[in-house]
Amino acid sequence: MRYSQLFSKTLREAPRDADTINHKLLTQAGFVDQLMAGVYTYLPLGLKVLRNIEQIVREEMNIVGGEEILMPVLHPKDNWVTTGGWDNIDVLFKINSRTEKEYALGQSEEEIVTPLVMGRVNSYKDLPIAVYQIHWKFRDELRAKSGILRGREFFMKDMYSFHESQEDFDQYYSKVKDAYMKIFERLGLTAKVTEASGGAFSKKISYEFMVLTDAGEDDILYCEACDFCVNTEVAEGLLEGGVCSRCSASGLKKARASEVGNVFDLGQKYGKDFDMGFLDKEGQKQFPIMGCYGIGISRAMGVIVEKFNDERGIIWPESVSPFKVYLISIGKDEEAESLYKELQEKGVEVLYDDRDKNPGQKFADCDLMGIPYRVVLSGKLEDGKVELKKRSGNEVEIVSREELFARL
Ligand code: ATP
Ligand code: MG
Repeated sequence: MRYSQLFSKTLREAPRDADTINHKLLTQAGFVDQLMAGVYTYLPLGLKVLRNIEQIVREEMNIVGGEEILMPVLHPKDNWVTTGGWDNIDVLFKINSRTEKEYALGQSEEEIVTPLVMGRVNSYKDLPIAVYQIHWKFRDELRAKSGILRGREFFMKDMYSFHESQEDFDQYYSKVKDAYMKIFERLGLTAKVTEASGGAFSKKISYEFMVLTDAGEDDILYCEACDFCVNTEVAEGLLEGGVCSRCSASGLKKARASEVGNVFDLGQKYGKDFDMGFLDKEGQKQFPIMGCYGIGISRAMGVIVEKFNDERGIIWPESVSPFKVYLISIGKDEEAESLYKELQEKGVEVLYDDRDKNPGQKFADCDLMGIPYRVVLSGKLEDGKVELKKRSGNEVEIVSREELFARL
């Protein structure tokens, strides 16, 4: 892509109300635009990042047998009354229609997916089933803040699984936990797995995937000697500096973290609420054991920015960056045009800064946007040579075109 064709340019200054690094840098670099508190437009560059994260999540969900669907955002009130959510979930957005009907906006979709799936299940032979979707969620959060970390409208992957027995669920649950670790690793994030209470309706333990960052809203206690980690909300009797309940090492650490995903054992609640069951091997009616598995795709994008930045801007991990290469010509436009074409032909995503601006501005934008490789063609280089610099390092190398392609 040519920079001159991008309609969203970088801004000279960050928005004054930006309270976090992700809000500041994503806005200034032209990735997102805030419409109101907690609601953002994803501009072309930001959408590319969101799609890259989404695709990594999709691939790993497909590997664990998830089938992708797309459920509605607009829900009938009845489904939410059936589960108690209409009166009990404080973040549920409720909508009045001129027909005097009421609706809810999806904040999670157990209410929709349970009748959808169980309406197609007759016997244990039809199970297990896992379906997932990737799209918008709406929540009437009291405080929408921290840029895209806490939105009122945000992008989520939510998967739901249905099982004939607890054993079958447990096996699947641990498979998804492993898939989650793989996803976060591919996103460049180190996630700690915390044990937490199961939320509104479940007394069961759930697992949260936490990334350490001061921009997060959770406090966790973790052990450095083993992988023990808990949310302080539920960590009864445990204190910073205290003894690990798993390996007995002393010196538990406390840190701020952001929850990028979680997995819940929903038990039989939703099957029972809708009175939708299946026939087991003995021909008896049973309710499915269900699991739900969320990943905050837009929050993960924000967390990546919180983790990977410096005074000059964002430093995207290659796996999610909107482009791999930022191409700059200093008085070598013809050669740059040909390199631009060749990079595209070879499938390398490249942003060619073809604007009539001084090199300093181009370098600054390249760093602000966080593109992993900066390639410069300049008059001081021999023909056929380019200057290569990684965003994450300081070293500038002079390499041939062939070498450049080998490196990329
Ligand atoms: P939190 O404790 O942060 O409010 P939650 O427990 O409400 O999260 P879930 O309802 O399980 O989270 O949603 C699944 C995932 O969606 C979370 O792990 C998080 O990454 C993301 N998420 C939740 N609420 C928001 C929000 N308001 N804005 C952006 N992402 C969110
Ligand atoms: Mg919440």
